[in-house]
Amino acid sequence: MKSTVHDIWDREHLWHPYTSTLDPLPTYKVERAAGTDIILADGTRLIDGMTSWWCEIHGYNNPRINAAAKAQIDKMSHVMFGGFTHEPAIQLGKLLLDAAPPSMHNIFYADSGSVAVEVAMKMAVQAAISASGSHDKTNFATIRSGYHGDTWNAMSVCDPVTGMHGAFGPALPVRYFVPQPRSRFDGEWDTADIAPVEKLFKEHAAEIAAFILEPIVQGAGGMWFYHPQYLRELRRLCDRYGILLIFDEIATGFWRTGRKFAWEWAGVEPDIMCVGKGLTAGYLTMSAVLTTRDVADTISRGEAGVLMHGPTFMANPLACAIAVESLKMLNEQDMATRVAHIEAKLKTGLTPARELPGVADVRVIGSIGVIEVERPVDVGEFQKRCVEAGVWIRPFGRNVYIMPAYIISDDDLDTLTSAMVRLVKELPGHAD
Ligand code: PMP
Repeated sequence: MKSTVHDIWDREHLWHPYTSTLDPLPTYKVERAAGTDIILADGTRLIDGMTSWWCEIHGYNNPRINAAAKAQIDKMSHVMFGGFTHEPAIQLGKLLLDAAPPSMHNIFYADSGSVAVEVAMKMAVQAAISASGSHDKTNFATIRSGYHGDTWNAMSVCDPVTGMHGAFGPALPVRYFVPQPRSRFDGEWDTADIAPVEKLFKEHAAEIAAFILEPIVQGAGGMWFYHPQYLRELRRLCDRYGILLIFDEIATGFWRTGRKFAWEWAGVEPDIMCVGKGLTAGYLTMSAVLTTRDVADTISRGEAGVLMHGPTFMANPLACAIAVESLKMLNEQDMATRVAHIEAKLKTGLTPARELPGVADVRVIGSIGVIEVERPVDVGEFQKRCVEAGVWIRPFGRNVYIMPAYIISDDDLDTLTSAMVRLVKELPGHAD
């Protein structure tokens, strides 16, 4: 290991995501990044397949976003949102409402994806208490294999087995889980998928404030793409049983699935929607929770009379200005065609993996390409090989996947997909 790219002090003192202090996975020191290139401290160039976990949609170090950020810094980086407002927050709100489902009306700016999920859940509870006059209707339901973040309530609706329930045990609130819909996004709809939801609602609707899920694409819980009909059926049942529907579009938003937001695949609107990640094009942490006028006003008519949340960095002007520029850039391009092109290239590039021994499935939607293998991948070893191959891919569990920036060149995308296929082929036990 070269000491320039593996920092000893970092290894000793800095926690990285989900990291053991006894046996930390190697981390690579990054010097800079531009476009879809990440340059390590020793000069190694990596083609980025991860967009820093779904965020860097326009690539790193984007000149237009840099300019917008610098202009905003010279005015003010931050000012409290209690008692003040500012143009970046207003402009962003307008752009978000233009892009969001038509029924969305009120926006709450939050700090991160996980906090957006907390806020969405708080909204649902306050609205349910206010509408029903009962403190019993405060629980949540969700599907298995979901992922909604690392804060307390977000963890409670992550998959109970692959999520964090094991580590936190009874400390987490107990939620209602129904099986993951198994009808594939591009396959036949099986009505059996929705039956458990109807059964659950029949028995427990009086306790359930909201149903939360990631529309169409379940991300960090398993990279699974399910049938849009599930969302239509779910909407119908939520309406019938008086349960709010929360879409977590934090990973799926801003064209990642080939639509502006994933709800569009099903044409059903949520009551509450969370966005994050790509919102600020990977520059700063910020998220937003959108809801209907009805939910917002129901909360305001409730006992507290206000939505009980107000973070210090709410509507941070710098983050808002960056998000405004990013959304303008998306609006100026034919994103549907752009993402369809990436999707077609991902499909062609990853198809050879279908024939490989040890591969369970290959699936692509929008700019997300996944090779699911039969056995969990050794992340440290896989990443070492990625770096040797000049690409940056970070698998989890049995999924090796990429979601490149929309600006990626065809050549770099080919390099990424062929490296992915080759590295999967070379996994222990995969050679034919
Ligand atoms: N929801 C979804 C669907 C996510 O993919 C993530 C992050 N992977 C989150 C919530 C949490 O976002 P953050 O990491 O910004 O807290």
